[in-house]
Amino acid sequence: MHSTDRASAEPASTPSRAAAPPLAAPPSAAPLSSASPSGASAPGAPPAAQGAGALLEEAGRYAADAVALRRVLHAGPEVGLQVPETQRRVLHALDGLGLDIRTGERLTSVTGVLRGAREGPTLLLRADMDALPVHEATEREFASRFPGVMHACGHDAHMAMLVGAARLLAARREEIAGQVVFMFQPGEEGCHGARYMIDEGVLAGSGPDGGEGRPVDAAFALHVMPGLPSGTLHLRPGPQMAASDKFRIVVRGRGGHASAPHGAADPVPAACELVLALQSAVTRRIPATEPAVLTVSGLSAGSLPGVIPETVDLTGTMRTLSAGTREVLHALLSQVAHGVASAHGVRAEVSIGPGYPPTVNDAGFTGFVLRAAAEALGPGSVQVLPEPGMTAEDFSYVLAEVPGALAFLGACPPGLAPERAPALHSSRCDIDEGALAAGIACHAAVALGHLSGRAEAAP
Ligand SMILES: [Zn+2]
Ligand SMILES: [Zn+2]
Repeated sequence: MHSTDRASAEPASTPSRAAAPPLAAPPSAAPLSSASPSGASAPGAPPAAQGAGALLEEAGRYAADAVALRRVLHAGPEVGLQVPETQRRVLHALDGLGLDIRTGERLTSVTGVLRGAREGPTLLLRADMDALPVHEATEREFASRFPGVMHACGHDAHMAMLVGAARLLAARREEIAGQVVFMFQPGEEGCHGARYMIDEGVLAGSGPDGGEGRPVDAAFALHVMPGLPSGTLHLRPGPQMAASDKFRIVVRGRGGHASAPHGAADPVPAACELVLALQSAVTRRIPATEPAVLTVSGLSAGSLPGVIPETVDLTGTMRTLSAGTREVLHALLSQVAHGVASAHGVRAEVSIGPGYPPTVNDAGFTGFVLRAAAEALGPGSVQVLPEPGMTAEDFSYVLAEVPGALAFLGACPPGLAPERAPALHSSRCDIDEGALAAGIACHAAVALGHLSGRAEAAP
């Protein structure tokens, strides 16, 4: 999960080092009480021919190794697109499973392809690998060994769960009709790692060299959430997370003596009016039914009482849930900035740094995941998320190419009420390792359901 924006529209080769604010936990929802959520269209059968909870029990056999791997990864966090030590550990953990392994060219990604016993579709399961430039303040014995770097977004747990799922699924290869692509991607935190992996062929089914792979036709990812009850799964059809774009506006006037503003072109009142005008514009120009957030989070101008400055610098973020609203908001930002500046006789220079697109879950696939997870975890542990979060994820790039879903996995630490758990990106962020088995089970349930060879199991 990503909450800091990049300055450039293009993927960059250096990781973002910006400090990141804590993320609020998404709201909880009613348990999944029926087999089909509203908005989900696919019919479907249970994912695996075994009783409810059996897959969770089976996943539990891989959980101790997953916890051990998570702790090793947690102690050695790396940021950005280049996470070589993390890559080495993932490769080691996947060794011996019989996967076709490929590593990234421009980033230290790992793609493992499990070929089932029979022909069938290709499902991608994803885990992100990178940590954050945050100084860890937990006192766990496996806390980060590196000052100023921390797995504060749970990506260590994501890798551990996906390795666990790879082990479980490799052991059940005979039941699989099709392929599972295990996508381990660096650079989720603002570095567009998923975009790089798509460019290098991860959706081709077997990496850039092609091979026999059938293109990926569905994709699934989990993100742990300390603010949700441990072991529960939460997702919704449609937007699950927002598009996130950063902006900067320089209001350029003409400096002067503060006692004689008529002799200058004062950018300060223009900038103040601009902040408020932008808020009005969002509420007046974007339909109330279309969520949009525009926050001016930085504002800097002169420092001397007697001097009118030349410029005022404004920075902020925009969050939207659809491509259309995103486009409208971008246009609105420029129009209002130039208009307000013009009214004050100053100029506005506007730049927008596009971040990630909205993360949109396919309705049919979401319905399938809800049913598969309810079968694996029990219906009381699976919930339709009532509303999207306004944070962003680069798994959105994958979901823009193929149908699929991202789900939140509750991982509230033991002994804490979910609403009291330190949020993702916090220096005190922690998770319940007991949730790893549920995550392994969810990955496996989705894979076994989608690749069961029964047409009705796939959306
Ligand atoms: Zn994050
Ligand atoms: Zn994350």
